[in-house]
Amino acid sequence: MIEPGTPEDESRRLAALKALRILDTPAEERFDRITRTARKLFNVPIALISLVDGDRQWFKSCQGLAVNETSRSVSFCGHAILQDEPLVVADAASDPRFHDNPLVTGDPTIRFYAGCPLRAPDGSKLGTLCLIGREPRTLTGEEVASLQDLAAWAEGEVGQVRLGESQLALIRERDELRRRAMVDALTQLWNRGAVLEILRAEVARAERQRHAISVAMVDGDRFKEINDTHGHPAGDAVLREMAQRLRGALRPYDAVGRYGGEEFIVVLPDCGATAARALGERLREAVCATPFEAGKGSLAVTASVGLATSEPAKPVEPDALVAAADAALYRAKKGGRNRVES
Ligand code: GH3
Ligand code: MG
Ligand code: MG
Repeated sequence: MIEPGTPEDESRRLAALKALRILDTPAEERFDRITRTARKLFNVPIALISLVDGDRQWFKSCQGLAVNETSRSVSFCGHAILQDEPLVVADAASDPRFHDNPLVTGDPTIRFYAGCPLRAPDGSKLGTLCLIGREPRTLTGEEVASLQDLAAWAEGEVGQVRLGESQLALIRERDELRRRAMVDALTQLWNRGAVLEILRAEVARAERQRHAISVAMVDGDRFKEINDTHGHPAGDAVLREMAQRLRGALRPYDAVGRYGGEEFIVVLPDCGATAARALGERLREAVCATPFEAGKGSLAVTASVGLATSEPAKPVEPDALVAAADAALYRAKKGGRNRVES
């Protein structure tokens, strides 16, 4: 194996990456949309937006892999950012740089790799949009051009900020290490502590601005059975996919977190009871609309949703709002599951 070299502009490159404050932030639908498209368009099992940090590559969006980062020394993307054109490795097993790389000889058993560098506005290469396959493969010139188009889409998103005010504040006020402690490693959602902090900030803001705010609790139905029947790793894969589906059903300024186990909490700023009902239905449908791919087969999963709303005329404290949403969730379970209650 040959470890990736260091780009000539490494310190400027790292400064540009850090300045974006994107490392160790929660996953976002706007990036997942790109990797989903890449995976489908190229018919590959894995597509990533990988950012190359000092000693690791960290994935802002990840389809088909169960990890959020690897060391830089084994990364293919570390090699890709050394060149301007996309790096295409047709068969890693017969490439001297990669043949004995642990990502080739072991999980996820990479054979094909194609990564297009993602540039910051100053030209520094931050990482790549990359495709990974388990069979040898090449790309036609037209396919390389499509990969470059998708990479340009990702570059455009990297420069944008779409999260709501209180989520942004949480990111801006903390360094990488403390950000890391606020994101759930399995689902790449805010963890419980972070999302409750966002809820408190948003409830205070709603009171100041005299807006409504709602909370949704979403709990996977009969999840114990999923684990018992398909195994815990399959259950984990379902949770990751569920998280992605919930993100996809929400507005960028809604905050979604893992409340614990297979239970998620969604903070819906500027959202009264009627709008919350519609969003709750959307969340429920996002989970049950199509079967999940987990392990070798596909499985049908449903979720129950409990809603609670704080209206300006009758404000509710954050803790009471969560308790009310939890009580509604309990009614949804009692009522037969795969339903929304408020
Ligand atoms: P209900 O419809 O009433 O919610 O049934 P349930 O089986 O989902 O409910 P319960 O709360 O009794 O069990 C939750 C299960 O979720 C228990 C545990 O096996 C599973 N679970 C919790 N966290 C994880 C996780 O991180 N990974 C996996 N694979 N399973 C988890
Ligand atoms: Mg459950
Ligand atoms: Mg539960």
